[in-house]
Amino acid sequence: MTISKLACKTIPTSHHYGRRTAKVCKITPHHMAGNLTIEGCGAVFQNREASSNYGIGTDGRIACYVDEDYGAWTSSSYWNDNQAITIEVANSQAGGDWPVSDAAWKSLVNLCADICKRYGFRLSYTGDRGGSLTEHRMFDATACPGPYLHARMAQLAKEVNAVLDGGSTGGLDINGKWDATTKKAIQGDLAAQGYYGGGIDGDFGYWSWKAVQEKLADEGQYSGFNIDGDGGYYTICAWQLNTACTGVFTSKITGAMDETFVKALQRLHNEGRL
Ligand SMILES: [Zn+2]
Repeated sequence: MTISKLACKTIPTSHHYGRRTAKVCKITPHHMAGNLTIEGCGAVFQNREASSNYGIGTDGRIACYVDEDYGAWTSSSYWNDNQAITIEVANSQAGGDWPVSDAAWKSLVNLCADICKRYGFRLSYTGDRGGSLTEHRMFDATACPGPYLHARMAQLAKEVNAVLDGGSTGGLDINGKWDATTKKAIQGDLAAQGYYGGGIDGDFGYWSWKAVQEKLADEGQYSGFNIDGDGGYYTICAWQLNTACTGVFTSKITGAMDETFVKALQRLHNEGRL
């Protein structure tokens, strides 16, 4: 069983080709041709003779419908779906150029980067089925993934490869402010490392703190404490201790998101070290 840690839920369907016979070496983003939630899309796949490995909602949440070890019924091509992980993305608006939300786009970038990392390939968009980033329209008379995503396939490959190269797409001001911009950047880092599956929205709540705690636990800095999503004194002390190991944070361990600590986090984010 192989499911990305970025998925916040699984809604399994029996609609798939069975176990893959090819190694995963492609990703195929689709659009839902509607603004379905991940639950709504999962419900469709219970009935309609269709499926995808993942779905992404306009809120940025990710669901798994078909385990990565199985080929999904998505792209009208066994050849493609036997070697591709397929992702249905909700449209934030029906019609027009069928756009997707910024949150969905970020989750798409993070999910693609996570898949590429785990299977050891980069994204290349060649405009035909030879690339590692393919589209439904290459295999059938369909507009899928819609004009908006179709126009951004090369951009998607670029952003995903930048994540793989450890680059950040925009640096933070080192201002020590624990503001929405900084919180979003840290959520993005946690998502890229597979700890966080929620929206990149700057709302640093239960899931964000849980991701911090899990990362700290993996790095040996949070043993003996509960993974409870509570961003309180002990969690922040552990985070400060962990950050002190980098040499970037040299102030007192206060257990609070104070200015010097936030500055250290901003610096580490910009350096791709968070
Ligand atoms: Zn499609």
